[in-house]
Amino acid sequence: MGETLAKKNISENCIICEQPKILGIHLYTSFICSDCEKDIVQTDTNDPKYEYYINQLKLVIKPEIYS
Ligand SMILES: [Zn+2]
Repeated sequence: MGETLAKKNISENCIICEQPKILGIHLYTSFICSDCEKDIVQTDTNDPKYEYYINQLKLVIKPEIYS
């Protein structure tokens, strides 16, 4: 029983930093940790990092479309 309880600490892989995190938000079926969420908001749009974030987000928001 003790082991079952230990596994209750649910973490999910963040789509941005790809680390298992517990705190964060869900965007569609994906998970963004609160650290990355904060980072995205604070990053200047001119920062190359911002482009990376957006690219990662696009993967989540846009379903794969084959035309
Ligand atoms: Zn993250």
